[in-house]
Amino acid sequence: MLKRAVHDIFSFTRDLEKGGMGMFQRIVRGLAFIGCGVLACGGVSAEAAFRNYAEIQQGMRDLAAKYPANVQTFVLTKNDSGQTIEGLRIGSGSVRNLVVATHHGNEYGSTEVAMAFAASVAQAPLAGQTLFVIPVLNIPGFNARSRWEPLNGRSLDPNRDYPGPCGTDGPFRLKSTRALADFLEREQIVASATLHTYSPAVVYPWGMSTHDLSTPYDDLFAGLCKAATVESGYASGNNTQLIYPADGTFEDYAFWKHGVWSILFELGYSHNPNPGAIDQMIKVNVPGLRRMFEQTPRERAERHGFTGKCDVRLKAFDLRTE
Ligand SMILES: [Zn+2]
Repeated sequence: MLKRAVHDIFSFTRDLEKGGMGMFQRIVRGLAFIGCGVLACGGVSAEAAFRNYAEIQQGMRDLAAKYPANVQTFVLTKNDSGQTIEGLRIGSGSVRNLVVATHHGNEYGSTEVAMAFAASVAQAPLAGQTLFVIPVLNIPGFNARSRWEPLNGRSLDPNRDYPGPCGTDGPFRLKSTRALADFLEREQIVASATLHTYSPAVVYPWGMSTHDLSTPYDDLFAGLCKAATVESGYASGNNTQLIYPADGTFEDYAFWKHGVWSILFELGYSHNPNPGAIDQMIKVNVPGLRRMFEQTPRERAERHGFTGKCDVRLKAFDLRTE
């Protein structure tokens, strides 16, 4: 039985290889990454690039002070560690869209891209849109440069904490994820970009444990991802095909539950980008984010349910590295 299951999983892997970029390559790279972490290889000057959350909060206040007509700070919630998750509200248009970064605390490159995009939109708001930017969802992870968010002595993966049709670690064990889900509902968010490092790739649903990866909007989603990657040249396509299946993620939840046009950015080439690499990530992704939000529909998707079958065997491929 076990042998059969393993055989089937590897058959699935080969199918994916035909359909898109290699999951097998990604597994090898995931293992290499783990080894790299242990050996601290690469000699990255991450310290120089890293800002703590207090500095990010100051950056948000500075932006609101610089562009008072366009930008206000807001409070999402207090998290389980008693810290206040803050964000920016930029512009005043009727369509409300969202950028959220750093579900995974170690992925500070995504925070910096979110902050740079906020600055760009503050200077020139998106026509007809209010853009919310939450640069750090997982504050304790961010300050500790850890993927996980702590809760009662345990380390939880915030981006496996949402409800999902094929399973979840949670749902909603964390106040941070519950608050973001409530925010989608309350603000009637239409389109979202969730920023992570690294692949590099920009991808669309479904990204979970299923072979039925299509939605009725594959072409529309593919166009949005193409628009987002003009400058970066990152790979774009279906989430599972380019990354790996993962259950309980924000990106699938937002589309599945609400029909939010939900795009996942796996930015750059490292979890430890140095200042030069961060500058490059900003340079190629800020215009892509702007173009994407200029092209997202002005109303949520109507046909956002999941009608396929889940395959629990695919859970073995969730590497939890990106
Ligand atoms: Zn991540």
